[in-house]
Parts: sequence; structure tokens; C-alpha cells
Amino acid sequence: FQRFSLPSIYIRPASTMPHSVPKLNDPSLLKTDVAYVNGEWVKAKSGKTFEVHDPSSGKLIGAAPEFDAADTQKAIDAAAAAFPSFRTKTGRERSKMLRKWYDLMVENAEDIAKLITWENGKPLADAKGEAAYAASFFEWFSEEAPRVYGDTIPASVAGNRVVTLKEPVGVCGLITPWNFPAAMITRKIGPALAAGCTVVAKSPGETPFTALALAELAHRAGIPKGVVNIVSALKNTAEVGEVITTSPIVKKVSFTGSTGVGKLLMKQSSSTLKKLSFELGGNAPFIVFDDADLDVAVAGAIASKFRSSGQTCVCANRIFVQSKIYDEFAQRFAAKVKEFKVGGGYTEGVTHGPLIHDRAITKVDAHVRDAEKKGGKVIQGGQKMPELGPNFFQPTIITGMTTDMALASEETFGPVAGLFKFETEEEVVRIANSAEVGLAGYFFSKDIHRVQRVAEALEVGMVGVNTGLISDPAAPFGGVKESGFGREGSKHGISEYQVTKMITYGGM
Ligand code: NAD
Repeated sequence: FQRFSLPSIYIRPASTMPHSVPKLNDPSLLKTDVAYVNGEWVKAKSGKTFEVHDPSSGKLIGAAPEFDAADTQKAIDAAAAAFPSFRTKTGRERSKMLRKWYDLMVENAEDIAKLITWENGKPLADAKGEAAYAASFFEWFSEEAPRVYGDTIPASVAGNRVVTLKEPVGVCGLITPWNFPAAMITRKIGPALAAGCTVVAKSPGETPFTALALAELAHRAGIPKGVVNIVSALKNTAEVGEVITTSPIVKKVSFTGSTGVGKLLMKQSSSTLKKLSFELGGNAPFIVFDDADLDVAVAGAIASKFRSSGQTCVCANRIFVQSKIYDEFAQRFAAKVKEFKVGGGYTEGVTHGPLIHDRAITKVDAHVRDAEKKGGKVIQGGQKMPELGPNFFQPTIITGMTTDMALASEETFGPVAGLFKFETEEEVVRIANSAEVGLAGYFFSKDIHRVQRVAEALEVGMVGVNTGLISDPAAPFGGVKESGFGREGSKHGISEYQVTKMITYGGM
């Protein structure tokens, strides 16, 4: 860290001075107080900004512009103006731009990781992993861009010929959360640009700066002005969201976030019948059958449950362990969790960072206390860690979980593993499927017949069999039920940003 010495134009009251800024190899990647519209760094017309805080210390680290409806409309207009020219670029031309953007992300991965840790709090090693994962979507979709094919269809009517074209849907509104400040955005922008769309992305209020570093790299990669626009808001979030979802210019909204906000955005989008992709909350079942390799299952649980301190949408939320191996699994799992080092994301050796803010701590604490009240036993952790900072919570394991506990039905989004005991395959599949959401599900077994049965029976969009890590740009990511619809990544990701146009040639 270095103390922030502010240029004179940035005179602020002492109480609003940034606490620290990360020491970047390329300091020009750090953009504060601005958004990116039509190829330019702009402020909100009102001049208003909102504060961003370090999750580790709770201290102020910077400010971002508080956009309102009119500011957002300008970004939409810029994307609309850029669309006619961008859509007619060849797939190969768009591919080269995305590839250049990817190369710049790889070159600047260390700085991007530092920015992610700075505003999100995750340990630097995890942030580096995210920077690489985020860049991989540009690489993947740079390869998809030149390979967009339609169909030639034998017509049913004599003398007719039918073909289809894949066309870009148009201006897209993208809204993403703070838990992956880089990857959630690139997973949307990559396919959108590959398809020939232009975008207005609203960055998360908690983590606006990583998105701006990506915009700076887009600029350097030669992405034409207006093709990528990044807007920000905190207090005005709903106002900005309403403009994006009700604008007749915006043809598609892709949203990653909570199920509640997803439902609101879907309602708002109905007035203009937009194409939608929603990646919403999960409540992933993680099932360990008694024929599983326990070491593999424990490693899977550690990765799936505690990555980003449990703040991932695909993280194991309900861990079901078959009765014969329940005690042994709990003991081995706890022994591994004891090895974690919790602390600030920049501290050497730290494996797990803070939660994003005090509301997250309140929810996690409430889930633990609720479980205890209903008979659960905390065998590891279970408490806040004020000695480290305001938003730290001990990695926690609770045994004796029952289905009436809040953790069973709600997404905890924190470092709490609740272990449920089960007897039969039929019982655990029924309980796993009782959730209203269905994003990811995991199970561990060496029985090939069970593996096929359970993979097919789980009501989720993604299944991890004998693994706790499933994210891959080559694989379609998305949910069922109230976890939403649409897929990101893979060959399916690009189709979310396309329309299929059918042409019938008559009189042949
Ligand atoms: P959130 O729904 O509160 O916010 C997500 C984004 O939506 C943020 O940028 C926020 O500013 C914006 N937003 C909130 N209200 C809005 C409105 N009225 N109009 C427009 N935008 C609005 O979610 P969160 O708490 O920030 O993120 C955590 C949630 O995201 C969890 O439920 C998690 O499971 C989910 N998530 C899902 C995936 C997935 O791929 N399915 C990935 C990551 C996170």
C-alpha cells in the first residue's frame, strides 16, 4: 500500500479521503470518480459520487459516479449509435479485438488481481485466479466470433429454400454482482461483442473499480467508442436499472445477482419484451455417499464451500453426508478447515478473506445462531472476528443440521458449512430437490450406476460429480427453477446475444 496523495483538483473533506490505494505496476488502470461512456471517462452530470469501502478494514477507498436516469440514457444512446457499424464488422475483426483485449488482460493480470482484492477483499491468490478466469472468456469468445453459423433447411414447400442467419440482438444491458468483479462482467461482454452487440454494463456498487480497469484495457485494445459502456450507481441503482430494463433501445438484459432482484428486473423488462438471461442465487446440495472417496469429497467440500469465503453462487450450501461416514467426514473436514488462515487479502499466507459488508456478516451470524437454537452443534468456528476487522467471520462447520433451519432453505453466502445426515439415495435426492432454486449440485460416489442416476435426478443446471469446482469458459453455466435461465460460456453463451432470422426463398 501507499498513501494516496491527491492532486489538487480532488480536494475533499478529510472524512472522505481514500484510506489507501493499491500499488499497481500501471497506475493508470486505477480509475476513480469516473465512468466510461462513448469511449470517454465521464462523471455523473450531477457531480455526485458514492463511496466504496475496503471490506477488510471498512475504510473508505474511493468513490464512483452516482449515475441517474439521464446519465444512463446517454450510455444507452452511445451503445445504440455504435451498433450499426459494429454489427457489420466481420466475425474475424471482432475476434481480433477480443483477442487483443484478452492479451492485455493477461499482461495486466497482476494489477487486475490487486484491484479485485482491494475492493472485494478476496485473497490475492484467489484474485489472480479470477483475473485469469475472467480473461479466459475473452479468449473463448474471440474463438467463437468467426464461427457463427446459420442453417440451410430443406423446405416442406416445393420450390422454396429456407436458410437461417444468426444476427446480433442489439444493445444489451448487463448487470453484475460484486463477488467476481471481473469474471461476471467478461462472461457477459465476451459473448455480446463476439455476436456483434454493443453493451451498457452497470458495475456493482461495492466493486466498481475493476470494471473500469477492464474498460481502460478495452480502450487500448481498440474496441470502438460506444461499443462498451460502463455505468455505476449505488443510491440510484433502482433508477438506473429501470432505465435499462424499460428502454425500447435495449433489446437484451443479462443479469447476475439475487433471485429477488431478478424477479423485479424481469417484471420491468416485460413492458418491452426483452430477451433475458438471468443467473440468480443458488442453494447447492453437496452430497457425500458412503461409497465415496472421502479425501476427494473433503477436498471438494473445501473448494466448493469455502472459496471466496462462501460468497459464490455455486457454493455448497447444504452438505448431506450418508450416516455411515458422517462422523468421519465431519472430523476430516474440520481438520482441514482448522488449517485456514483468515485475514486481509494482501497478507502473505492468508487463505480466506473478509465478507463483503456488515449485512453479509449479520446474515451469516443469524444462520449460525438459528441452527444452534434448533439443535445444531458448532464443531468449528461459529463467531465473528472483530479483532481482524468488521467483516470477518470464522470458517464454520455445524453438525446435526435439520431441514427447519434457515441455512437449509436460504442461501447463506458465507463461510458456514452445515452437515445434514441422510440414510438413503431416494431421501437425499428428494430433500436436495426441495429447494426453490437449482443452480449447482455436487455429489461424491464411486458407483457408476448411482453416478448416472443422481446426476439425472438432481434439479439443477450444473452437476459436479466427484469435484467441487465446475466453472469453465468451455462449459454452459446457468440454472433452473428460481436460479434463472440462459447459459453463459461455451458455444451456448453466444446464442444468448443472437436472434435467429429465417429467410424463405420462393419460386426456385
Ligand atoms: P443483488 O441482486 O443485490 O445485486 C446484483 C447486482 O444487481 C448489483 O450490481 C446491484 O447493484 C444490482 N441491482 C440491485 N438492485 C437493482 C435494481 N433494482 N435494478 C438494477 N440493478 C440492481 O445481488 P448481490 O447480493 O450483489 O450478489 C449476490 C447474489 O448474486 C447471490 O444471490 C448470488 O447467488 C448471486 N450470484 C449468482 C451468480 C450466477 O451465476 N447464478 C453468480 C454470482 C452471484
